[in-house]
Amino acid sequence: MMNEWLKRFANRADGMQASEIRELLKLLDRPDITSFAGGIPDPSLFPTEAFAAAYRDALTGTAAGAALQYSVSEGYLPLRQWLVAHMGRLGVACSTDNILITSGSQQALDYLGKLFIGPQDTVLITRPTYLGALQAFSPYEPRYEYVQPEVGNATPALYAGAAGASRSKLAFAYLTPDFANPTGETISPAGRTRMLDLCNELDMPLVEDAAYEALRYEGVSPPALLALDCRRSGGIDLARTIYCGTFSKTLSPGLRVGWVCAARPVIQKLVLMKQASDLHSPSINQIVMHAVADKYYAEHTRMLRDVYRRRRDVMLAALNEHMPPPVTWTRPDGGMFVWVRLPDGLDGTRLLERAIAEARVAFVPGKAFYADGTGTSTIRLSFSLAEETESKAGIERLARLVRNEYARLNAQAYPGSS
Ligand code: PMP
Repeated sequence: MMNEWLKRFANRADGMQASEIRELLKLLDRPDITSFAGGIPDPSLFPTEAFAAAYRDALTGTAAGAALQYSVSEGYLPLRQWLVAHMGRLGVACSTDNILITSGSQQALDYLGKLFIGPQDTVLITRPTYLGALQAFSPYEPRYEYVQPEVGNATPALYAGAAGASRSKLAFAYLTPDFANPTGETISPAGRTRMLDLCNELDMPLVEDAAYEALRYEGVSPPALLALDCRRSGGIDLARTIYCGTFSKTLSPGLRVGWVCAARPVIQKLVLMKQASDLHSPSINQIVMHAVADKYYAEHTRMLRDVYRRRRDVMLAALNEHMPPPVTWTRPDGGMFVWVRLPDGLDGTRLLERAIAEARVAFVPGKAFYADGTGTSTIRLSFSLAEETESKAGIERLARLVRNEYARLNAQAYPGSS
């Protein structure tokens, strides 16, 4: 029957592949494994009491009616008003008409794929890029082209020419400018300007995934792409950048509350999509998220930055101390990830099998983040979850395994050498 089903699925189902991350998340339940795999917040840091109180309030007296009732597709108005102020602090002047509440930013990525990508249309991405974005976009059957905001992109003519050759349009460029998943890297102000220039010349939308924006541990934040764009274009309704935000990395991913901030015509279409797909994000979760964000966002994110900064520092120090020289890694200014380049020939997926069995450590093989299946000698380490002593010991065990694997690789390449 299995094959019978496969032939009945629409073509777009070919673009739906199981995620290695999802499989790996199951390992988090094994207490003997130190997991550097899932890019998820530490649950012990959730503002649990604040959420408990907010749910109680939302369900008390007359408020309960609204919390348990259907609501508008655009999202809970006080939450959108809070986000107007939040976006204002990021340099984006906008109104509630420029904001749609989504079920996490993942839903926004799916909607944007649905809104902009026709079969064979071109999406510009970095290599590597966020696996969840590839999963959201790929069912809409795009072709991918690559940008390198720091090192230099191809010429606009080249992107336009390649799209023209496949008789397709340029759908959008997708970027995670701050502490990217998986590399942890941040795009410099010059790189941001270069990307906006490119999108202007190609007259295409730019999707800014700002999932980790609030988690900066050092240095100064470059302006959001949307803020730069508003300045250049004359305001949000003239901007081509579509900003996707989320409370998942700051307050809680479980409530599934994210948002899109963009020009009104984009929001209006997305509202229709929201209506067709799930009517609206859960009323009670939006009400509660607003109450908690309003009281605690600044204070809570300050605390998170302190904790995660220490965890980042511990992981970087342990890598420095224990990893053999051919291994290199990024030094992120924020977020949750360190991206490791192994020596050529060491395969991240194979290393994971041994790491689980021998070093009791898990991570995500980097290949998962490449649309073209390259990147075999890379791995993603997340420092958000493991506490300091555990992280230190885990990196030491992983480094020992890498050293052994590297020695074995060399012995195969140069048999007889000692
Ligand atoms: N974008 C990036 C870069 C992410 O890492 C994630 C979560 N892994 C998301 C979007 C989606 O997060 P959510 O749907 O919980 O907002």
